[in-house]
Amino acid sequence: MTPRVRFAPSPTGFFHVGSARTSLFNWLYARGRGGTFVLRIEDTDTERNRDEWREGILSALTWLGLDWDEGPTLQSANLADHHAAVEALWEGGYLYACDCTREQIDARTAAAGRPGYDGHCRQRGVARDPAAALRFRVPDEGVTTIEDLVRGTVSFPHEAIGDFVVMRGNGVVLYPLANLVDDRRARITHVIRGEDLLPTTPRQVLMWQALNACPGVEPVDLPAYAHLPMLVNEQRKKLSKRKDPVALESYRDQGYLPEAMVNYLALLGWSPRGGEVADRATLVAEFDLAQVSKSPAFFDVKKLTHLNGEYLRTLSPEQFAQACQPWVAPVEGEWRPSSPPPWEPSAFDAELFARAVPLVQTRVAALGEVPALVAFLFVDDVSFDEGAFASAIGGDPIGRVILAAADERFGEIDFRAPVLHDALATLAEGLGLPLRRAQAPVRVAVTGTKVGPPLFESLELLGRERVRARVRAALAR
Ligand code: GLU
Repeated sequence: MTPRVRFAPSPTGFFHVGSARTSLFNWLYARGRGGTFVLRIEDTDTERNRDEWREGILSALTWLGLDWDEGPTLQSANLADHHAAVEALWEGGYLYACDCTREQIDARTAAAGRPGYDGHCRQRGVARDPAAALRFRVPDEGVTTIEDLVRGTVSFPHEAIGDFVVMRGNGVVLYPLANLVDDRRARITHVIRGEDLLPTTPRQVLMWQALNACPGVEPVDLPAYAHLPMLVNEQRKKLSKRKDPVALESYRDQGYLPEAMVNYLALLGWSPRGGEVADRATLVAEFDLAQVSKSPAFFDVKKLTHLNGEYLRTLSPEQFAQACQPWVAPVEGEWRPSSPPPWEPSAFDAELFARAVPLVQTRVAALGEVPALVAFLFVDDVSFDEGAFASAIGGDPIGRVILAAADERFGEIDFRAPVLHDALATLAEGLGLPLRRAQAPVRVAVTGTKVGPPLFESLELLGRERVRARVRAALAR
């Protein structure tokens, strides 16, 4: 049997790294076994859904290269099926109407000191009028046991599961039933999802089995379940949407490569045999749910960043330049990061940038760092880091002596990195200073800051005229 898996996100917020991991594990499982990957958007929470979140999910999956075989289907297109399931369960005697208010339930729960619905309406024979909720009658005794492909055997005693609402008084069918009805319809064989949904699973299994027993309902095999370990932060706490950097979109924005992201996400609860750095084909070939860990997985941004740097360094200079394009030469109508480069679009010179690539490729961990490193090539006026200017030039007479002497030498010599190096070294020596000391004012004058790509190569790229003009402008300042 080839698997049919699905990714079923709710479009109620940014695409979370946890959702990205879930989608990847489903995709890997399908691709490694000739299976089918179904994309279903669970858009029935009309108050929290937004079109832009749905677009965000699709563009994030596309960016990660997680292609789907069916869909995207919308849960909202399937409401008739959800209601038909409610009717079948009602006819089968699995549901009862309940007119308890939230306040009544809370008061009784507090008095009893026991969570969950107390079964108050079970025997009351509340009429099924439109305002009453419908609850599923959970068997009093016994257990529901799941053979989870990740967590092993998990048992849920029925006495701990309160009778739960399947449809609210307003006619809204709640997510657990809608979700399983859609899974039945799509003939899903494996439900691979986050551990946060584990508590919902026994209820879904009970409803699934009940539906199979309802007259007139075609029985469907129960899927296998695999609940993926929780993602935690450095404090070993569940990742927080507010406090932790969990929006996948922000990693794209900062210039992480999709291949690095996929590789990193694959490590969240699993690891390929041949080491952690593994390409997509290896991940597909090796991935198995049986090897996924039960323990929480640490979402380690430092490790992700390190891995991204490694991926960046495996690119050829041409590939690197190509990958930088949205950051250095964004194109209207195409995807681009949230902040534009700090130069006029017309000032960008692709050929000059290509020559600068070897200077920056080894120095960045993400593509978003590139514009600041090469900005000096594409701006007319350097924007100075004031602290750096003051310490290297403004407040340092020796810095100014160096600049004046350098300007003169720069007018005479061959303008190539090794020659520039030797000229500045000789100049420094004449003043009894280390080369480092002579480099600082030149770097600040030319690039505005004290840190950046190697100085002499940078000077060569910028060219004699522009270098000298900047040295003089800094002296005048
Ligand atoms: N729509 C659910 C969610 O985003 C996922 C349900 C599932 O995977 O079963 O939490």
